[in-house]
Amino acid sequence: MSSGSKVSVDEGVDPEGSSSSLTSVKVHRLKGIKDGQYSNPVFKKLSVINGEINRMPREELISKLGELKLDSRGVTDVLKKRLKTYYREKKLTKAHVPTPKKSLPEFLMVIDFEATCEENNDNYDHEIIEFPVILVCVESKQVVDEFHSYCKPRINPQLSEFCVQLTGITQDKVDSAEEFPKVLRRMEDWMKSHELGAKNKFAVLTDGPWDMSRFMYHQCRQNKITYPRWGGKWINLRKAYSNFYQCRRTKLNDMLENLGMTFEGHLHSGLDDSRNIARIAIRLAEDGCELKVNEYLHYDRNENAFKSKHITPDSPKGSTSEEELNQSMDGLHLTNDGAANETEEVDDLLEYYRIQRS
Ligand code: AMP
Ligand code: MG
Repeated sequence: MSSGSKVSVDEGVDPEGSSSSLTSVKVHRLKGIKDGQYSNPVFKKLSVINGEINRMPREELISKLGELKLDSRGVTDVLKKRLKTYYREKKLTKAHVPTPKKSLPEFLMVIDFEATCEENNDNYDHEIIEFPVILVCVESKQVVDEFHSYCKPRINPQLSEFCVQLTGITQDKVDSAEEFPKVLRRMEDWMKSHELGAKNKFAVLTDGPWDMSRFMYHQCRQNKITYPRWGGKWINLRKAYSNFYQCRRTKLNDMLENLGMTFEGHLHSGLDDSRNIARIAIRLAEDGCELKVNEYLHYDRNENAFKSKHITPDSPKGSTSEEELNQSMDGLHLTNDGAANETEEVDDLLEYYRIQRS
């Protein structure tokens, strides 16, 4: 670590060592006074270290990480965050500073749907055609299982040439698959076999808000089935990533590149996408990011949108009228955790396509 760096008093009270935002410094200071969280002198030491890390040239960061036997891949901001987290954990443990017990998921269910589509048709009625789930154990940071199934579309059973090219999903794969409601039930049985939501706490994790808030939401509506309770909240990886590394929200390939990794497999294959999303999530967890829910669908309790009973069109007892379903679905809105501070909300499929095309 360079030794000649000077640290101002203001930087000294910012636990992140950030010199970029006065507001953030003030907020931390107020918080510290309020709950005494930062009264321990170790925080002063940490902010001095963080200030020094902020000023370190890239080569020095790489050499320091190498010395500490830490991963030295990734862009400079990633390296800085990795080194800061290392010192933070080391110093807090040494100083016996109790870290508040947080309610974090034990497992991540990484989902990346593929859907029917057409080129340059933003009003297309998408239907889910690939349903992959990668199960990650947060503690071991390992993939422990995978669920994978194609789904047969109803509205547009014939895949467009564009869709086949984009996703690599061939017509015979969807022709021989079950329709979405049955696949969903099999997936929920798979969840039960892992005691997810029972003994084991889990969170859904997706790349952006669209998988749940668009594809899953519309698919349930098309099939006249109740939106599943487990899909009402999730971790938006792009948001977690940009908040943790303090960088702009970006697409899957760029997140990998910033971490010094490359995409493995076929981009836009649901299974390969979700495996690569899982790799990023694991990297984040290894770098010390606490992956927790940051987006959810809000619902009007009076409309009883999240019914625990899974309703399918095949089960007459559970079926519901289109009007009832529309009412309950209309009560659902995408909600941001800490939305007041979010200036970069990109909850829009058009924006998504724009990013994908760029
Ligand atoms: P992705 O997870 O990025 O592979 O995309 C999920 C789904 O979004 C795809 O299966 C398509 O249905 C749709 N999609 C993604 N990119 C495009 C695009 N450029 N044009 C039309 N649809 C797209
Ligand atoms: Mg995909």
